[in-house]
Amino acid sequence: MTKGIQDIIVALSEIVGPAYVTGDDSARFAYTMDASLFGGTDAAVVVRPGTTEEVSRILNFASKKRFPVVTRGGGASIYGQPKGRPGENILIDMTRMNNVLDLNPTSMTVKAQTGIIMGKLQHACKTAGFYIYAPFAPLHIVSLGGWMSGAAGSAGLWRDIIGVTVVLPDGTVVQTGGGPATNHNQKLFYNRNLGGPDLTGLFIGDGGSFGIKTEAVVRITPYPRVLRASIFEFDGLERVLELIERHVGRVDPHPFEPIMVFGPGAMKNFMPEFEVSTAFTVQGMMQGHTEEEIQAKQAVFNRIAEELGGVRTPMLDAMAEAMAASGSEGSDMEMDWLSLFNGLGIAAWLPFTLPREGFLDVYRKLLDWRTERLRDANQRGFKHRATWEFFAPTDASTLIGEIDAFFEPSDDPAVFAYIRDMMADFQDFAHRLGSIDVYNQGIMSNINASFWSDGYAHLFQTIKKALDPQGILNPGLWAGTTRGDKSKCR
Ligand SMILES: Cc1cc2nc3c(=O)[nH]c(=O)nc-3n(C[C@H](O)[C@H](O)[C@H](O)COP(=O)(O)OP(=O)(O)OC[C@H]3O[C@@H](n4cnc5c(N)ncnc54)[C@H](O)[C@@H]3O)c2cc1C
Repeated sequence: MTKGIQDIIVALSEIVGPAYVTGDDSARFAYTMDASLFGGTDAAVVVRPGTTEEVSRILNFASKKRFPVVTRGGGASIYGQPKGRPGENILIDMTRMNNVLDLNPTSMTVKAQTGIIMGKLQHACKTAGFYIYAPFAPLHIVSLGGWMSGAAGSAGLWRDIIGVTVVLPDGTVVQTGGGPATNHNQKLFYNRNLGGPDLTGLFIGDGGSFGIKTEAVVRITPYPRVLRASIFEFDGLERVLELIERHVGRVDPHPFEPIMVFGPGAMKNFMPEFEVSTAFTVQGMMQGHTEEEIQAKQAVFNRIAEELGGVRTPMLDAMAEAMAASGSEGSDMEMDWLSLFNGLGIAAWLPFTLPREGFLDVYRKLLDWRTERLRDANQRGFKHRATWEFFAPTDASTLIGEIDAFFEPSDDPAVFAYIRDMMADFQDFAHRLGSIDVYNQGIMSNINASFWSDGYAHLFQTIKKALDPQGILNPGLWAGTTRGDKSKCR
């Protein structure tokens, strides 16, 4: 170990204690990995703070010495971790900051440290009789801070985030949100948009570029004890999109009435009987507090689906019943769907987010792209085993989905290189058709940035420069600010 690194370890040990700093090779090696095919961070030193004050002192030290800093939550990125300056980074692992600080049943808010894994936070809320909206993501590995930073405000959670505590690159601690941050006479954070601009939003989906979030206050609601699902099959997508239009024109899918559309590729992974089917399957979920409420919701949803030609079968009804049981009070709704994906092979994740208006035309082009690319893959000997596709409205205007492909398990680096290229090329293609990816992380932040308008890029750079003049925090993230220039994105 060089003297310089030894000095950093000594300085950081004074802040967090020697047990929570290391330059050890085997520890550093673990952080070069993450859940993605794009890899983790090559760090000189790893530090695991326990409090906001410690994070502040670390950043103050790093900015004075101009050391690059990379933040890590659960490592569940699908596009890789920030690379920073390989071999020189101080990597801040946030997962020691994993406490629920306050669950307020009257205000219906929960305050937690951001290194907390979402499954633990969800469990704590549920034990107290409350529900935190945390759909879809792999809850057993994703941290609150990493989800808020790296996934466009954590998919649907963003509008429930009332305020955050952020440490700026120079070590300054800031609170955002309507409450103590905007009126020092108020003790409670209770409404994000009060008393000033929405500065919480500045730190959501920033990839961790503007600061390190250490605490967050999030809105919760009483746990919806009754869950039902209705599953319908449709021959074509036009009627499905009409169903969605009528659904989102009537209710907000967030947080209790999500609706998901699965393509034939998805259903045959669950049920081989779907092998020859071309049908699309729509799952309407209704969550609520009483049987009476749910029956009314389900009756309306079923009537609209039937009017539009949706068909129920005994098999789909049985699936709906099983889904309702899996979300019952006794279950923690853990993400066992991940084991399904692991069983399918090496994933090429192909996500998109589009306006509902004009969706069908773009969606067909995306599916055609996948078909063409898989033909190319198979010709080169990279065998795929399965595909899966789904999309869902997150609000009245937006459809979010994936058309993933799964390849034969392999140790061959060429397979991984092919899949990485496929994921990046898909995003380039989808962005050219107007899609915008929700993942503000790793290579995806660079691809997203390469499609920014000039004005947006200017604003981003101005804020970044003001907050982080020496560029120490997650350096290199959002690098692809030259429009459509792929060479800067990989
Ligand atoms: C198999 C799989 C399926 C997935 N499915 C979904 C899904 O359906 N929906 C969904 O929303 N997401 C999904 N994800 C993605 C995951 O939710 C996001 O990648 C999320 O950002 C990961 O959070 P993390 O805590 O692991 O963050 P990390 O991967 O550790 O970090 C992500 C980014 O956030 C930054 N960061 C981390 N913590 C902080 C902090 N406290 N302050 C500031 N910056 C920070 C990091 O520097 C990095 O840039 C999936 C991931 C996998 C592996």
